Amino acid sequence: VPVASSPATTPNTAASLGPATAPGERMNATFVTLARNSDIWEIARSIRQVEDRFNRKFHYDWVFLNDKPFDATFKKVTTALVSGKTHYGEIAKEHWSFPDHIDQEKARKVREDMAQRKIIYGDSVSYRHMCRFESGFFFRQPLMMNYEWYWRVEPSIELFCDIDYDAFKFMADNKKKYSFVLSLYEYVETIPTLWDSTKKFIKEHPEHIAEGNSMGFLSDDGGETYNHCHMWSNFEIGNLNWLRSKAYVDYFESLDADGGFFYERWGDAPVHSIAASLLLKKEEIHFFNDIAYYHVPFTHCPTGEKTRLDLKCHCNPKDNFDWKGYSCTSRFFELNGMEKPEGYENQQD
Ligand code: GDP
Ligand code: MN
Repeated sequence: VPVASSPATTPNTAASLGPATAPGERMNATFVTLARNSDIWEIARSIRQVEDRFNRKFHYDWVFLNDKPFDATFKKVTTALVSGKTHYGEIAKEHWSFPDHIDQEKARKVREDMAQRKIIYGDSVSYRHMCRFESGFFFRQPLMMNYEWYWRVEPSIELFCDIDYDAFKFMADNKKKYSFVLSLYEYVETIPTLWDSTKKFIKEHPEHIAEGNSMGFLSDDGGETYNHCHMWSNFEIGNLNWLRSKAYVDYFESLDADGGFFYERWGDAPVHSIAASLLLKKEEIHFFNDIAYYHVPFTHCPTGEKTRLDLKCHCNPKDNFDWKGYSCTSRFFELNGMEKPEGYENQQD
């Protein structure tokens, strides 16, 4: 048979063997990672898993942010791993420093005291800049202004199940603004006055408090005290326009003025969670049961064997944190009148 007449075959290039982009409308969305150059191999592992389980079918962009310039290795390795476009941004000084009103001596004493009390990251200045940045600035970095949706990814996370649908599109189609996979109680030592500041904000800005909000997730006495429940923010899929809204920015600025990012050690997780719970309607927050996730030391492994088999999950259901005593996810289900998935009783301890 003459070679010239043989049927045309598709060449075995990586592009032709790899999965095509999933059909459907693409969202204006990006992954976003804050990292240091030294995080390269830990973030490489996270990216590989996000690509294998989700993004190889969707090719969304990935924005990397750092308080220092990214080095050549970081850029080369991450660009090779991400199937969408990559962008690298250096954070402006004002977004990674002490505001002028902070009393440096008072802040230093707090760090010393927290170090003695062995409070995690209690002595760290950079961790506080990180928490303030994630609370108030990541969503308005120049590179983020082009996008409407974000998915936050940290170093050393794991994804255990396939995600076969566009999670960004799910958020948009279902009018969701914020989402989570793990929730728990915050260490009270890191946020002793966060609720006082929040109550002051509620009083000063009643116009920002949503009707039908999730106050019941945060408080067991109608808002008098905080029960310390929060959604873990190392995983988030959310709407950037919501974070850029006057309501959210007013909340952040009022917290920043109170100084607790430095006089205490307020985390971005309770800040985002309180904001989502008060500024959004409760239907606008989504719990992704089908996104199986690990960030040290907690695992979210979907409840329900059928889900786990259908999605080719490789997590141990016994590791699932959702229904254990230190999780707040039961509370979220109850508040929203959601039925707990079949089999949850077997995962309570
Ligand atoms: P943990 O999850 O609360 O234990 O904190 P991590 O160490 O994971 O930090 C949270 C996120 O901020 C991760 O994405 C880190 O890579 C990033 N991060 C933490 N500290 C710094 C820092 O000083 N500079 C930069 N560029 N990123 C940081
Ligand atoms: Mn982390």
